[in-house]
Amino acid sequence: MGAHAADSPGPGAGGNEPWLETVDVVVARAGTDVDTGLTDAEAQRRLATWGPNVLEATDEDPWWRRLLAQFRDPLVLLLLVAIAISLVAWVIEGTDETPFDAIVIAAIVAANAILGFWQEARAARAVLALREMAAARATVIRDARIVEVDAATVVPGDVLVVTEGDAIAADGRIVDASMLRIAEAPLTGESEPVLKRTDVVNGPTVVGDRVDMAYNGTAVVTGRGRIVVTATGMRTEMGRIASLLDAGADEPPTPLEREIARVGRILGIAVVAIALFVIATIFAVSDISDATDVVDVLLVGVSLAVAAVPEGLPAILTVVLALGVQRMAARNAIVTRLSSVETLGSASVICTDKTGTLTRNEMTIQRVVTASGTSEFTGSGYDPAGHVTVTARSGTDELVLEEVNWVIAGGSLANESALLHADGVWTVRGDPTEAAFLVAERKLGITERRRARFDRRADVPFDSDRKLMSTLEVDTERDHQHLVVTKGAPDVLLGLCTHENVHGEATGLTARRRDEILAGIEGLADDALRTLGVAYRRLDDAPETADTSLETDLVFLGTVGIIDPPRAEAAAAVTEARRAGIRVVMITGDHPLTALRIAQRIGIVDGPAPVVRGVDIETMDAAGLADALEQTSVFARVAPEHKLRIVQSLQSRGATVAMTGDGVNDAPALQTADIGVAMGITGTDVSKEASNMILADDDFATIVAAVAEGRGIFANIRKFLRYLLSSNMGEVLTMFGGVVAATALGLDDTGEAIAVPLLATHILWINLLTDSAPALALGIDPAVENPMDRPPRSAQDRVIDGPMQRDVVFTGFVMAVATLLALDIELTGGLIGGDGDIVTARTMAFTTLVLAQLFNCFNARSPLESAFVSLFSNPWLWGAVVLSAGLQVLVVHVGVLNQAFDTTPLDVTQWMLALGLASSVLVAAEVRKLTGRAWRTRSDPQRARRAS
Ligand code: ATP
Repeated sequence: MGAHAADSPGPGAGGNEPWLETVDVVVARAGTDVDTGLTDAEAQRRLATWGPNVLEATDEDPWWRRLLAQFRDPLVLLLLVAIAISLVAWVIEGTDETPFDAIVIAAIVAANAILGFWQEARAARAVLALREMAAARATVIRDARIVEVDAATVVPGDVLVVTEGDAIAADGRIVDASMLRIAEAPLTGESEPVLKRTDVVNGPTVVGDRVDMAYNGTAVVTGRGRIVVTATGMRTEMGRIASLLDAGADEPPTPLEREIARVGRILGIAVVAIALFVIATIFAVSDISDATDVVDVLLVGVSLAVAAVPEGLPAILTVVLALGVQRMAARNAIVTRLSSVETLGSASVICTDKTGTLTRNEMTIQRVVTASGTSEFTGSGYDPAGHVTVTARSGTDELVLEEVNWVIAGGSLANESALLHADGVWTVRGDPTEAAFLVAERKLGITERRRARFDRRADVPFDSDRKLMSTLEVDTERDHQHLVVTKGAPDVLLGLCTHENVHGEATGLTARRRDEILAGIEGLADDALRTLGVAYRRLDDAPETADTSLETDLVFLGTVGIIDPPRAEAAAAVTEARRAGIRVVMITGDHPLTALRIAQRIGIVDGPAPVVRGVDIETMDAAGLADALEQTSVFARVAPEHKLRIVQSLQSRGATVAMTGDGVNDAPALQTADIGVAMGITGTDVSKEASNMILADDDFATIVAAVAEGRGIFANIRKFLRYLLSSNMGEVLTMFGGVVAATALGLDDTGEAIAVPLLATHILWINLLTDSAPALALGIDPAVENPMDRPPRSAQDRVIDGPMQRDVVFTGFVMAVATLLALDIELTGGLIGGDGDIVTARTMAFTTLVLAQLFNCFNARSPLESAFVSLFSNPWLWGAVVLSAGLQVLVVHVGVLNQAFDTTPLDVTQWMLALGLASSVLVAAEVRKLTGRAWRTRSDPQRARRAS
């Protein structure tokens, strides 16, 4: 055991060059035992000594640096310039008045930075939580038991047990290897996987040549092995590289981010143009007399810029995505990047595996077809209660039963799974397909003794390309003769057989018998059963290792039909996906007929449909495959490389493709797909790393739920974009219209050199304070229209599309008119006889604009539906409206805020007037939506009915 030798776990516990030492030396030096591993206590102790097995992330920025980063925004810089201008004006004027403008802008800028900082931190926490959910695990031997642990707790001396698809968690010496091939590209750049062995390498070698070592960050492509860990964390080869590199290259921007950046650029250009125009107009019309006036004019320019840009947008976007991702995680869909949410919402094709995703992956052998008859097994699930009834075609029932016994015994020998019984419940460890044989074995009453007769020597693991697995056994009751037992896809296996077992005799296979066997397989598949064949061969010699060359001249034992019931939710999820215009394509390694029957049962295809097989794809060129994809949605007996071609073909026709996968070989397809979806339970580490979403429950329905969630989030993003941009449009048009009207019509009888309808501080107040809460609440708005009622958005569609642009301009225009009316009424007497005081007039305009925005948040919930549809379904929105209205009351009625923002208290009539004018935004939008709906009904009655 490890404990006694553990006191001296050398440097890295394995010596400096473990690849130059024999297994025994390395194991002894590491103070461990290959079969029993470390004790838990010892592992704990070593963890304390060596530290966690993690590649330390490049230093995270300290909080103050992240806070400072908030000021890098060009707009914030502009505001800092505004502060400087105000201060200059204040100094030039040389008054004793407090420079309120500068102070208020500075306070708002600070508030914005803190808000942004807090929101970013919150989003970062969400991402971190997701990472933890998807954290790497490792299988180790501890206290003589095989256990799964957090990869971060692996210590030098641990014995790692690795199998196909596992990511290697640390550096170590190979102590046991069976067909163990490891892809080391991340470390060495070598694309071909390396076959590993336990023999010492000779002389000095580079990492890529150390075939007796396995390295952190590489992955097992095939086979199995055990590794004694010699180095963890930053002491691994990967750690050495990580310390040299600046890890974590930035991800390229997503379409949404690009779109928002584009909008930002357009706004920037527009702002500069408008500001220049307005400033020029003012200079031309007004008589600018002194420096303070010049400063005032410049401030108008700055306020325009401030008006045009939705300052709060990026932070709100991040928070909304983070919240959405958390909601998805609660529904078992773990999205590893915030940006994937948006792609998910636009998925137009979901390519899915069958086994385990659409079906329950709960395998029960139901029927066995052998040379002399057919046998039916009763019972369900893994409970071995059940019996067998035999229908003989030739010979006695006993002879048929003996054939069945050999099929099941063979399948149980070429087997890595285990059947477990605890608290009255039967469960399995390992591959459910294999476990089905162990259950059938019990139903037949085959005793342990029968299996104990055979002694496993070596094996060739299952591989989804070959669709076969074999073991090399020694028959202890028959002169220790060696035999090969192979099981796998029966149609493939039959091709390797020359004989078949008839009443215990190996009988030569005729062409007719082959056809009959294939027909038998079809018969099973036609009943939606998963088929598997078993064969064997006695060997004359005694090979030490097993490889695929042994799989020839086999004796076919028979075929089993395994039932794997569809998941209860699968059919409903397929229906929902299809209703949402999303195509579901099944891509499976299973038999074509089994695949078709399952596809029909859960509604992927209606009635008869062609099935394309992997071998067919091989003969197709790109155009042929694209045609095939037009014809069918069921692909069977495919190998992982075909998945890649299918994804590429769909993408070339403009589809946004989600693709599921679990194996190592699925990684390229997962990476290429727009949304790679890995299986959380059965998926390999490699497939998880290649994906942007992990299904915690392996369930197809979860993918559809995640798409619906993604669409909902996307719709919400559009809601607050519509909301925020209308606000900015309203502000720009107000400023523009106000300044132009005042200067052109000579209305600046206000005692000021320039009459601006709103001050920069007012606009900042709206953009950063009163707009923020409703925008956030819109980001978590429950759906007004079911997001799955519509076909998927095309990848070319703009987020801020034509209709939204028109909406923004329309709403902005109504807002500006209402705001300027408020100003004008107060200034020139108008209806209620204002007193011409510019401060009161501005307060009115300011308040009208804020209230108009609060009305507008109800408009923004849907482009076409009335604001009164599910008006009260979002309590957050109402809360946000109350909060923002409260803030406005404060800025209008609290003395110090009056001073700071240049506002003055309003009386009830004035508030009522502001409210009335502001509500015109709601009225106008309702009228516009009404005509929009009428037009939609006329142009597309069907769609209108669906939507309602
Ligand atoms: P999907 O791609 O939908 O998950 P699948 O799991 O059925 O499909 P594979 O695992 O590649 O696809 O299996 C393909 C075929 O290989 C099966 O139909 C079966 O005949 C055979 N097979 C599956 N598992 C084993 C196994 N453990 N040993 C031997 N043969 C197997």
